[in-house]
Amino acid sequence: MGYFNENSQIMDHFLHPRNVGKINNPDGIGKIGNPMCGDIMELQIKVKEGIITEAKFQTYGCAAAIASTSSLTELVKGKTIKEALEISHRKIREVLGEMPSHKYHCTVLAEQALKAAIEDYQKKND
Ligand SMILES: [Zn+2]
Repeated sequence: MGYFNENSQIMDHFLHPRNVGKINNPDGIGKIGNPMCGDIMELQIKVKEGIITEAKFQTYGCAAAIASTSSLTELVKGKTIKEALEISHRKIREVLGEMPSHKYHCTVLAEQALKAAIEDYQKKND
């Protein structure tokens, strides 16, 4: 764990991940894997009248990947689909604070999982 400051948001989310698990009858599911470092993320969202009311995740991967998806579930809650689509990996990095640059891809993965979950939702509701 030498990479991360113990008091950082990243460690906080890693040690106390928010919204872990699955949703009953999710409206959208996004599954993304990164063959390079082996991170696998599944993000599920519940959407009511165009607003994301619930988000849960399961991530098998490094601390940065877990922290990225955990913070993402907090970021998307209460957002409209349009607002959620504007959440970028940069925003996730902003929330989590400093991290080594070789871990940036984990935040990109979280953004892709969100986009995939929204796409899945839109496909089912078009
Ligand atoms: Zn990773």
